[in-house]
Amino acid sequence: LVERMRAHSSTIFAEMSALALRTGAINLGQGFPDTDGPASLLSDAAANIQGGINQYPPGIGIPELRAAVAEHQRRFYGLDVDPDTVLVTTGATEAIASAVLALCEAGDEVVTFQPYYDSYAATIALAGAQIRPVPLRPDGTSFAFDPDELRAAFSARTRVVLVNTPHNPTGTVLDREQLTLIGELAAEHDAVVVTDEVYEHMLYDGRPHIPMASLPGMAERTLTISSVGKTFSVTGWKVGWVHGPGELVAAVRAVKQFLTYVSGAPFQPALAAALGLPDAFYAELAGDLQRKRDLLSKGLREAGLQVFDTAGTYFVVTDVTPLGFTDGAEFCWSLPERAGVAAVPVSVFCADPELGRSLVRFAFCKKDEVLAEAVSRLVAAG
Ligand code: PMP
Ligand code: GLN
Repeated sequence: LVERMRAHSSTIFAEMSALALRTGAINLGQGFPDTDGPASLLSDAAANIQGGINQYPPGIGIPELRAAVAEHQRRFYGLDVDPDTVLVTTGATEAIASAVLALCEAGDEVVTFQPYYDSYAATIALAGAQIRPVPLRPDGTSFAFDPDELRAAFSARTRVVLVNTPHNPTGTVLDREQLTLIGELAAEHDAVVVTDEVYEHMLYDGRPHIPMASLPGMAERTLTISSVGKTFSVTGWKVGWVHGPGELVAAVRAVKQFLTYVSGAPFQPALAAALGLPDAFYAELAGDLQRKRDLLSKGLREAGLQVFDTAGTYFVVTDVTPLGFTDGAEFCWSLPERAGVAAVPVSVFCADPELGRSLVRFAFCKKDEVLAEAVSRLVAAG
């Protein structure tokens, strides 16, 4: 394995899911739902397979899906997106990787918040670029960054700012003021903002999702990325997209075509239809998850953990210090045996592991009865 990938040789999700399977623990580590997406979506995809939509689709994605993405951006955010500037990818993961690989020369810098989704650091390393992580620190009952630290992370070599809102793992939703500052700094340094909005339909308590591209002047320097895995509870389908200014999307496409070429032929038409599901579908998704968030957060408090507020995503972050642990990784490695539950340590999402040392993430995208059982096991384990 090349030197620059050695720190990224395995993912915590695979390791913790394997441990959960081995021990029979309830897996609240890896974030994936335990129910399937909309019935019409599943039957459409099955019919497409039976109906012979099984060969290479166009490299940029089928026209119906690209148009549906553009329409989705108009419907939810008032964004004016030309379907010709939408590129379909193999999940958001490939869109992020292709963008970073397309934009960064070796030695260029990528500013991103830590903790971060683990593919970010691996992808930046693959590109030979440097990560400039800005801490999101506990701030009362939620997490926030220090504007001065953000400013200090920028340099003449900053090429990309990689922003994730709603944020995995902390559940932070960036507000307009925070996004504006990020946008201003990117503009000052002539950097491209790559935004990962895969949890765009999972915000709670009436909070709105604000796409970076909707801020004044930002569409021209922003690549907006999302995917279907979370929204339609089909994380294994791996269909995503990126849209933005034509020349930036063309650069991403140049890389993407040699990573996977294309993907998801039978899924693409089905997803094009699903994106047009009525508002009630999207409202129910967020409503259900808000209830699950409340159920798990309350239960984790009963089990003695310090619980942070989740404004978006399907994760809740806790501090295990009140249970007598100082190290979240140690807590997580023993939790399946001790309590029959799996979770992931936040330190693995950090360039500086000290930052998330005592923090642990739990996923709540599970059936209510599964969450209730997990809570009773945690309470019983003390
Ligand atoms: N970004 C974030 C923040 C995520 O949590 C995930 C979930 N796995 C992804 C990207 C990957 O999305 P996809 O499965 O569409 O590649
Ligand atoms: N995004 C999900 C999580 O954060 C799953 C990621 C993965 O399995 N690579 O848990």
